Amino acid sequence: MVLKRSDFRVPDVYADWCPGCGDFGIMNGLQMAFAELGLEPHQIVMVSGIGCSGKEPHNVKVYGVHTLHGRTLPFAMGIKVANPALEVIAIGGDGDGLGIGAGHFVNAGRRNLDMTYIIHNNGVYGLTKGQASPTLRLGLQTKSLPKPNINEAVNSIQLAVVSGFTFVARSYAYDVRHLSDTIKKAIQHKGLAFIDCLQPCPSYNNITTKAWYAGEDKLDDNGKPQSRLYKLEQNGFNPDVHEWSEDLEKKVVAIRKAREWGDRIPIGVFYRNELEPTFEKRLTDRIPFYRERPPAKQKLYSENGLSHVDLSEFMEDLKTS
Ligand code: SF4
Repeated sequence: MVLKRSDFRVPDVYADWCPGCGDFGIMNGLQMAFAELGLEPHQIVMVSGIGCSGKEPHNVKVYGVHTLHGRTLPFAMGIKVANPALEVIAIGGDGDGLGIGAGHFVNAGRRNLDMTYIIHNNGVYGLTKGQASPTLRLGLQTKSLPKPNINEAVNSIQLAVVSGFTFVARSYAYDVRHLSDTIKKAIQHKGLAFIDCLQPCPSYNNITTKAWYAGEDKLDDNGKPQSRLYKLEQNGFNPDVHEWSEDLEKKVVAIRKAREWGDRIPIGVFYRNELEPTFEKRLTDRIPFYRERPPAKQKLYSENGLSHVDLSEFMEDLKTS
């Protein structure tokens, strides 16, 4: 059965984000990507942390878990390891993933599970009234801050590249077509994919607004706004690593590109490498029956109803493998 984007809407659930919030665009981008990839709701799990972004799984008709602050990735990785047949999408805010969850971000990169992680990057902790998040730039003073921010920002693209994510991209919540195409590429990528999604927060971030990204303060000679966002793919940028000898250079180029900000902000794929084995492949090399009988398909209780996990088959197979 071919599903439409509307099949991924949750009936009778009211998405209670503020009017104009970029979260709506991200929700639409996810629904479009799932439909266009021909996926069905039972094949997908969305896992979120705490923050306005945490409500994304409430509003998309797939399996969903709304977890703890900063723990999005461990939950998502556990689900993927338990059932590698699922498409797992971890989703969270910049504070959730790059503040309290930063250790998990780095260690997820080491594992390279075949799943996708999307960060809603709006520079503030919107749910708790707009404090500075780890991606707010030094010297900016959004409307909840009594003084300008005195911390340097985390550059999530650079951190993802050096942490070992094998697909690293950026998109924009109000360009739903670009976002949906980027999500599709991330899901199709064999390995851990990261998308930094720029997302205006109209309630608390009065600096990097929709009008700012659109360049409404930056008019050309004809009085037309000059968008700050430009697409890497339309500028001949090649993020792909075809052989290991190219890897370091591609990483350095991606890190350099990620420094661009201000009047020109790149969106698109910065780095992609499918040469690195996934965690699932490494597990299968160690446990040959892992994909056929992953933990989710193991027995949880015996005939008499007592809960137990039967490890005997595992142990026997380990002895002979
Ligand atoms: Fe969106 Fe900001 Fe409102 Fe949260 S506070 S729902 S991020 S506009």
